[in-house]
Amino acid sequence: MAKPDLILLVLDESQTLQLLDRALRSANYSTAIVHDKAGLDRALQEFSPAMIVLGEKLADAGGIPLAEDLLERFPTLPILLFAERDSLQLVKEALRVGVIGYVYPPLKIGDIVGVIQSSLKRAHRTGDWVRREVKRTTASLEKRVSELETMVKLGRNIIGSLDLDSVLSNVVSAAVELTGAEAGMLLMLDDSGEQLYLQAGHNLPKDVLNSFHLSVSDSIVGEVVRESKRIVLNEASPREIAKGYAVRSLICVPLRLQDRPVGALCVDNRQQQQPFSDHNALLVSVLADYAAIAMENARLYQLSETERVKFEAAFSSMENGMVVLDGKQNILLVNQAACAIFHLDSDKMQGKPVLDVITHPDLHNLLTRTSDEALKYHEINFDDGRVFNAQYNPIPGFGSAITMQDITYLKELDRLKNDFVHTVSHDLRSPLTAVMGYTELLERSEPLTDTQHEFVRRIQSSVGNITTLVNDLLDLGRIEAGYDTLRETVQLEAVLRYTLDTFEPQIADKEINLHVETSPTLPSVRGNPIRLRQMLDNLIGNAVKYTPPNGDIWIAMRVEDQQIIVQIKDTGPGIPTADQPFIFDKFFRGSNVPQGTPGSGLGLAIVKSIVESHQGRIWIDSGVDPDHGSTFVVVLPTYSPDHDTKPSQPPSPAK
Ligand code: ADP
Repeated sequence: MAKPDLILLVLDESQTLQLLDRALRSANYSTAIVHDKAGLDRALQEFSPAMIVLGEKLADAGGIPLAEDLLERFPTLPILLFAERDSLQLVKEALRVGVIGYVYPPLKIGDIVGVIQSSLKRAHRTGDWVRREVKRTTASLEKRVSELETMVKLGRNIIGSLDLDSVLSNVVSAAVELTGAEAGMLLMLDDSGEQLYLQAGHNLPKDVLNSFHLSVSDSIVGEVVRESKRIVLNEASPREIAKGYAVRSLICVPLRLQDRPVGALCVDNRQQQQPFSDHNALLVSVLADYAAIAMENARLYQLSETERVKFEAAFSSMENGMVVLDGKQNILLVNQAACAIFHLDSDKMQGKPVLDVITHPDLHNLLTRTSDEALKYHEINFDDGRVFNAQYNPIPGFGSAITMQDITYLKELDRLKNDFVHTVSHDLRSPLTAVMGYTELLERSEPLTDTQHEFVRRIQSSVGNITTLVNDLLDLGRIEAGYDTLRETVQLEAVLRYTLDTFEPQIADKEINLHVETSPTLPSVRGNPIRLRQMLDNLIGNAVKYTPPNGDIWIAMRVEDQQIIVQIKDTGPGIPTADQPFIFDKFFRGSNVPQGTPGSGLGLAIVKSIVESHQGRIWIDSGVDPDHGSTFVVVLPTYSPDHDTKPSQPPSPAK
């Protein structure tokens, strides 16, 4: 049996109270009586009354403020005000604070009980309604929370999984679950862009799973993709969306990748007659965005993975050793070749400071040097004879990379070439020196006829030519092979003076007018003084050789933009325009060189090699009339003497 409703009577002691109490009990209510606010508070701690009958005036409080206070704490508690008299003012107050009823004398107990009964009924009905509403709202909130939870779970799944198939399958399942649909599918455009094939499905019939595909041009799903718009169908009778696949309701939204539709996400009901709401459609759209994010992630991952595999293949198969460092010189990457060079295990090197892992002193020198130039190329020599050319390349904002190239065989070639050069120069020059010596002895031993004198002179001239040719060839070989590595601070103006001293007798013989324009305060260049002397000797030697008697030679040296510009101009026959492109080729001689002019065509080739090995440039000034003398221009970079405190002495002639 249901418990009787408890009516709390908060009234002064009176006969009416006793009568009311009895009447309520006999009407099957249980009652409790308190006379003041303190009693009311105690009672409310002990039990929950279904209703309160509250006196207008109590010993320790007024009825209206007390009702107001009570309704603040228990808003649904029905309170009936028991007034001492009928008063409009009191009614207004009572209604303002929210009491449900108002009784006043003269009172009949039966009437009061009647009011209480009807008020309680109303209160019950209100309570039921409130409970129902709360339940409904709670259910709706729970549904939203569950939707959000599904979304969050799916979001995590997308972020955490690289398995696109499983993520897309989860997206379709979530769409079905959240919309309460019967089935769902995710369709993708094929490569031709004309057909949609099933990428993932949920609750689809088996026969559909195997053969489902749609034409983009004439299907509802195709329309969604074509026009990139959402479609919601709520049909009275089933409608076929694909052959043998009819739906009663459908939501289909486009799937966009980089703003381009690539497929569609659909949910449908084939059996149940349950229309989809706008909210359902919104959920499916959000899920389609999720699917697009997952596909984009997969695409980017695939891309980076392909690049990583390519890079790894290239990096590990590189013949040269390579070590990539971060800004603090910790090892980030190291390839197999580098591991083999230092006999190290790549697994144990990652993240460690390179100088701790690779203890080779030459590598330490490379990494602890500060000058940029010094950092660039460096040899690493091993006790077993291997030699590597190490190159240090800073990578701005990232760190640096060291590449190491095995030059052991080049070093061996170098040694062989040096031996060869040594042998050849000795073996070629010795007999020439002997021939020269014997021709001199010949002249001294017997008085020679004029013809014999002429023969001896010709032999000496030929031997001189061969010696020059041998020396030129050997020099060119050395310079071109890059063996000419000596570098000092050189004052070009001083070198010029030595060259001019050498050619002074010839200049005087031919009565050539020499004009020199230079300054002893020209900045230095960084180079090999012997080669720079050879360069000036060849250029000025040519000018003297090709300029006719009484001609002019101008030599100028000046500085411009941290470069020294040397200009050598003469009034010789000039260089025909057609010959100019070949003038620096080996053994090339100009078409206008008169028969019998000594020379081998190697001088300018040597000059060009020397200039280039000093990071300079050389050209013929074609602005000058080719038939009226030649002008050669050489440009060399200047060098700040702060870097080298020992300038070299001008060298002796190279030839
Ligand atoms: P060569 O031994 O013939 O002088 P070079 O290599 O020094 O060889 O010069 C190549 C050619 O360039 C010469 O044969 C000549 O035709 C031309 N040449 C070089 N310098 C001059 C110059 N000052 N005047 C005219 N022709 C020159």
